[in-house]
Amino acid sequence: MRLLIMGPQGVGKGTQASLLSKHFNIPAISTGDIFRFNLKNQTELGKKVQAYLDRGELVPDELTNSIVKDRLAQDDAKNGWILDGYPRNASQVQALDAMLEELETPLDHVVALEAARSVLLERMKKRAAEEGRSDDTPEVIEKRLQTYEKETAPLLDIYESRGQLVSVNGVGEINDINQQIIESLS
Ligand code: AMP
Repeated sequence: MRLLIMGPQGVGKGTQASLLSKHFNIPAISTGDIFRFNLKNQTELGKKVQAYLDRGELVPDELTNSIVKDRLAQDDAKNGWILDGYPRNASQVQALDAMLEELETPLDHVVALEAARSVLLERMKKRAAEEGRSDDTPEVIEKRLQTYEKETAPLLDIYESRGQLVSVNGVGEINDINQQIIESLS
């Protein structure tokens, strides 16, 4: 199973990606997590991406695409994967298309999780208090939502037109949402 999980910040992509990862026994790959890990460990990559994450801006495509390409080529990704937080703009869609063509592994579905802006803001505020993520300040949260609406939301139309899009309500019990996603994939 090869899946994308898409939706705005705070909609629960990470939570659902990790449940789907267990269900299908495939890795959940989050570009945001990869960047945060490198930031925390102050690697070369971490230093390069710090300013973008701090400002809530997208990391340059070249860097992001090459990270995803390397990750998809790893052994544990042979039988499938869930990509969380990638692609995030039209040029990343093209880059992913090229990677998958090269690997000869087509995408199965794109799951779009949906929630109202007010719900997203509430959840992100809560997460900021719990996890202390440096990019969960009110200004950066606002910026990230704007970037999502402008750059990423239009990508759903692309996957819809390819007949790959499955939309699921992201508000409710975590396990119920997970069940709905799984049912919509069969
Ligand atoms: P996330 O946890 O997915 O919200 O990602 C946190 C931050 O990492 C984003 O605000 C961006 O700065 C960066 N990031 C994550 N994924 C991508 C991507 N596909 N393209 C560019 N930047 C990304």
